[in-house]
Amino acid sequence: MKKVLPFTKIIATLGPATSTKERIFELASAGANLFRLNFSHGDKKMHEMNVKHIRAVEKKLGIPLGIICDMQGPKLRVGCFKNGSVTLENGQKFRLDMEKAFGDETRVTLPHKEIFAALKKGTYLLLNDGLIRLQVTSFGKDFAETTVISGGVLSDHKGVNVPGVTLPISALTSKDLKDLRSAIDLKTDWIALSFVQRPEDLIQARRIIKNNAAIITKIEKPAALNNLEKVVDLSDAVMVARGDLGVECPIEDLPSLQKHIVQICRSKGKPVIIATQMLESMIHNPTPTRAEVSDVATAVYDGVDCVMLSGETAVGEYPIMAVSMMRKIILHTEADPVYKKSMDVISLPPDHLIASAITSTIPTMSKVLNKLTCVVTYSLSGSTTLRVARARTGTSILNLTCDDRVIHRLTLAWGVYSIKTRMIKELNDVTPIACKAVLKNEMGEKGDEIIITAGMPLAEKGNTNVLHVAVI
Ligand code: PGA
Ligand code: MN
Repeated sequence: MKKVLPFTKIIATLGPATSTKERIFELASAGANLFRLNFSHGDKKMHEMNVKHIRAVEKKLGIPLGIICDMQGPKLRVGCFKNGSVTLENGQKFRLDMEKAFGDETRVTLPHKEIFAALKKGTYLLLNDGLIRLQVTSFGKDFAETTVISGGVLSDHKGVNVPGVTLPISALTSKDLKDLRSAIDLKTDWIALSFVQRPEDLIQARRIIKNNAAIITKIEKPAALNNLEKVVDLSDAVMVARGDLGVECPIEDLPSLQKHIVQICRSKGKPVIIATQMLESMIHNPTPTRAEVSDVATAVYDGVDCVMLSGETAVGEYPIMAVSMMRKIILHTEADPVYKKSMDVISLPPDHLIASAITSTIPTMSKVLNKLTCVVTYSLSGSTTLRVARARTGTSILNLTCDDRVIHRLTLAWGVYSIKTRMIKELNDVTPIACKAVLKNEMGEKGDEIIITAGMPLAEKGNTNVLHVAVI
């Protein structure tokens, strides 16, 4: 028996709609490979329970599940209003300042000194996900006078974005520093960092996280785009966080930015995630819109590693159906011959590494060998496996490793499925173990061909230099 396994992985965000063991079991059964715990909501206790549930479900299903702890980051917010909200009219004046008093039609508190320091005359401030637009007319070190360009209802604690301005604030707030500790205590596989602006933000985070978790950088600030190559180099994976990015940049820039970020990540072999509003209408409807189906398929055609569900699974009325729908779209798109061709079209620039020379031949081999069923990697650190995934091999990848952490982290990677093995010392032992593992994971049948890659000597990390073809 051979299973059809999707190459593109699914991340489901947990929330009030899904934070029980039963729901998590259903989400994983429907096809979710990783779960995102959103630290902008919920408390430590809730995240702790969810981690416990996920690990229990993983045991029950016998498939590895990844955990992502997503830090809130420096999301800037206004204070509160006397009556909970105000309506701002186009053309009126509106003041933002550091005074503690409740806000009204004329002013509100903006408790972030850093913003005032970074303003210029004419700077736009976007509030409430970009719904309200203010333009700065004058400012001091603790206030800004603005004109309302697009008005609307502004209520307590709404978010503030300052597009195009690199704010002198770190990507980690004091809340984040506390949450990072919790995430590490919870033995999370991945930590996602929000509103990263500069390479230094990642260096600071890495100093704290060390090797306790891998880092996903959320690209949602234009400043990060200015340093994209460096930012990607310093990340273990990248998320195209279209929610905030679509507020910080002109929304019509999103599709080209998405393609650009995906290309850079793919060429560097860093897993890349497309996030936000993928099946948004399924929060309230049992079926998505045509445009949403097409959006998910487009991400798949672009060869991304993961697609993500946010509100759809966190607070939606149809969380399980949203995952099933995503899986269906993925499987149908990946079965299209155009998909395989589109994987080839993206030419990866040569990086002169032995590992890349070996792994980049695999797509060609998979066209010559008509019984090739999967590529097996034996990888201590996961780096060989990621190299293989970078080549978008056209077959699934079975990752053999003795490290549970590698197994959990690679749930994020394109086409990668993992099995835990003992430490292998002799190259000759890899082939029989690989054949057995392929059969056990139902990734191939007797008589099928498999490609095996590993590094000699086997005990050394990150030195892919062997390619072997075997018949099961
Ligand atoms: P968020 O990040 O859901 O944590 O805001 C994703 C995004 O901004 O798209
Ligand atoms: Mn965001």
